[in-house]
Amino acid sequence: MAYQEDRSSWFEGQGLWQHVSASDWQDWTWQLKNRITTLDQLERYMILTPEERRGVAFAGKKLALAITPYFFNLIDLTDPDCPIRKQVVPREAEMYVAAEEKLDSLGEDEHSPVPGLVHRYPDRVLFLVTDRCAAYCRYCTRSRLVSNAQDYNFHPEYEQGLRYIESHPEVRDVLLSGGDPLLLSDKKLEHLLSRLRAIKHVEFIRIGSRIPVFLPQRITPELCEIFKKYGPIWMSIHVNHPKEATAELRDACERLAFAGVPLGNQSVLLAGVNDDPDVMKALVHRLLRMRVRPYYLYQMDLITGGSHFKVDVRKGLEIIKSLRGHTTGYAIPQYVIDSPGGGGKVPINPEYLESIDDDRVIFRNYEGRRFEYPLTSSGHTLDADATLDTPAPAVGSAADVKRGA
Ligand SMILES: *Cc1c(COP(=O)(O)O)cnc(C)c1O
Repeated sequence: MAYQEDRSSWFEGQGLWQHVSASDWQDWTWQLKNRITTLDQLERYMILTPEERRGVAFAGKKLALAITPYFFNLIDLTDPDCPIRKQVVPREAEMYVAAEEKLDSLGEDEHSPVPGLVHRYPDRVLFLVTDRCAAYCRYCTRSRLVSNAQDYNFHPEYEQGLRYIESHPEVRDVLLSGGDPLLLSDKKLEHLLSRLRAIKHVEFIRIGSRIPVFLPQRITPELCEIFKKYGPIWMSIHVNHPKEATAELRDACERLAFAGVPLGNQSVLLAGVNDDPDVMKALVHRLLRMRVRPYYLYQMDLITGGSHFKVDVRKGLEIIKSLRGHTTGYAIPQYVIDSPGGGGKVPINPEYLESIDDDRVIFRNYEGRRFEYPLTSSGHTLDADATLDTPAPAVGSAADVKRGA
């Protein structure tokens, strides 16, 4: 059945938490303190399937369970297949590890010159500044080091990372990630941004964060002032399904945009969540309405216990094909596979090109119609409006120009 959404509605309100004061609800520290993190708490609010109960029991050994009250409200409690529920409620399937799946599937640890810093590309680094998130995505790429469920002993200590960046003039772009950098206090974040801004060769600073989606209350006016002060700071948020585009997320994006933060979105292609052209189209349209430009659509990394989320790459290509030409160009993310073992992100595109040789390129458009663009020119004739008898205008010497002639 085609995905249907009410385009005029933006979810808002306190849902199951009507008894909480509006000021508590809007307070991001209240949201964090009242996260759902145990089986007992979860079962107070919803009826779990047996698969989910077993998944929750295992979560403590793999990747902690944590859901903010705000995000929990987006779950359809009557639907075990709810796309929001699948992203944050653990399932038994997480316990089964396929042979090709790895804890460090992108080989980040091997490209890490100092703890917490990944230097894979020539001119930019990934700087992991915390091991905590507001809520945990069950398909997390860095479950080995976030939430502290695996005794990985990652203690983000960024002085070493800052010194590495300071002493590597080739690093012009720093991507703050983690964990979620926006879980740091304003004071810590300001310290980090001011140190990075002070490095002459760092031209581009960006933050990868799912906080606007899990905890939009964290996007306070004070935080926005910090972004203004040290801007331009770019941000990639992480929205996977149109239901995540609430009034509160929309307003948080507006605060960020008005503070001069250009916004992009990174989605992960997930089975039963967004592996559908209609869902993806609804999502990218919502994003544009919130001033967010779809940036990447990721093929899921080969993380341990992630098989139940895996989508055939041909499905991903079909989704991109369903967008290109059929909707606004700005709405179309680049579909990428992050190379297993560590080769970086590689674009995966539907094939529009049919052939190319010295004479011509032959391609198809979004409707499948065939076109040809010649690469050589021949048989020139004079343009009907051109006349050859007008004398060419005199060209003045540089000296004439200087004299004002
Ligand atoms: C994704 C990533 C980046 C940033 O890549 P862009 O294509 O510039 O967005 C940088 N370093 C690492 C290790 C990454 O995984």
